[in-house]
Amino acid sequence: MNSAPASGKLRGDTCAADVIWDREVETEGHEQAFARASAAWDKQFAHLSEHSDFYGRRWREAGVGARPVKFADLTRLPFTSKADLKGAADEDQPFGSNLSVPVERIKRVYQTSGTSGAPSVLALTPSDMEAWTQIGTRTYYASGIHDHNSVLTTFGAGPFVAGHTFFVLSRIGCRVVPVGPGDTDRVLFGLRAGLFDTVMTTPSFAQYLSNRLEKSREEVKPLSHVVTGGEAGGGIPEVRDHIQKVLGATVDEVMGIGDVAPSLFGECPGQQGMHFCGGGHVWVEMVDPTTQEPMAIEPGAEGELVYTHLTREAMPVVRFLGGDIVRVEGGSCGCGRATFRMRILGRRDDMFIVRGVNVYPSAILAVVGQFRPRVTGRARVVREGAAVSIEPPVPVEVEVSNGHEADTVLADEIEKEVRAALTFRCRVELVAESDFGEAGYKTRLVRKA
Ligand SMILES: [Zn+2]
Repeated sequence: MNSAPASGKLRGDTCAADVIWDREVETEGHEQAFARASAAWDKQFAHLSEHSDFYGRRWREAGVGARPVKFADLTRLPFTSKADLKGAADEDQPFGSNLSVPVERIKRVYQTSGTSGAPSVLALTPSDMEAWTQIGTRTYYASGIHDHNSVLTTFGAGPFVAGHTFFVLSRIGCRVVPVGPGDTDRVLFGLRAGLFDTVMTTPSFAQYLSNRLEKSREEVKPLSHVVTGGEAGGGIPEVRDHIQKVLGATVDEVMGIGDVAPSLFGECPGQQGMHFCGGGHVWVEMVDPTTQEPMAIEPGAEGELVYTHLTREAMPVVRFLGGDIVRVEGGSCGCGRATFRMRILGRRDDMFIVRGVNVYPSAILAVVGQFRPRVTGRARVVREGAAVSIEPPVPVEVEVSNGHEADTVLADEIEKEVRAALTFRCRVELVAESDFGEAGYKTRLVRKA
């Protein structure tokens, strides 16, 4: 069921609109994309050399001379890490030493969640806002949202960059039905009332909603489309297929990075990974996560993505290590887009090593998902201390319905399956829904013990 169409359209979508928002940029080949980026970079390099204290200093320290660095020589410039950006922010509160425009030109300020330390801010000029809206529009349009759709979004408008999707949905011209993150009552009300045909949410919440409807056996009007974002999961078949089955919808996923653009990759209804949608505004490189040696972006390659802003004015990043390890799924696609497609394997920081093998917690989700309906689909690895290497058995917590946490047969079966599929031993602890925490909106895949 839900066999993926190659047309770039959702099943049942009969509208005549072009399936590609920005045909010129999204269908161009590497050579044209490179030329476009190269022209933008010359301006960006001059802008940063002159106006960014942060990059001006870093590049001098790295021995970059006064002559402009051409785009083809981008790899001569040092990487920028999250810690570097934090340092730049701390240096000159609130906007940081990487603010590259006069303060009066900043017309929008988002904040980061500040899970590690004080919140920092993301400042945008009108041109930066427009770039984010353009990239986001390509992204969500790629996922299959067209102007005739009615979209429930659970992405909060609050202080966070996810709120920028409201500009994007307005640009597409669809109906927007906003609710707060995790507001199950309003989602169910809207579902029963037929207020929307599309839901934008985290995969954790989509999974929670599916489990709940499955359990209550309530008949609701099927949805046509669920777009997941904010965390990995929508691309894991064991997670995706269950949501598709219960809600009757096609599930695809989108992804962004706050410091770069809140929506930057969007999967088309062909469900073959997320297309890069930032052409002309953002340049992406791939590096080996351990050695940071450049890698070719080609089918099958697995590495960390590195981002450079080509047009951002206020707080551009150059060679920013995004921390996401991805697998490149391919280039051209049945939908007509020529940009590369990828899936997230996991966060660099969530990766651990068992007997020399790199493991991402999302691999465990894929195994655990097979045990539905005895499990809810959520699971996480328990990490003690900061060591990257874990001696087996690896502690794993798996969420189950209340009252099933003593099912040793189930725990045993999951342990066996992890061993068979992932080749390491784990120790499964079943945790009741009421004790698992995090309310099902977003699930951390790693719990620090
Ligand atoms: Zn496609």
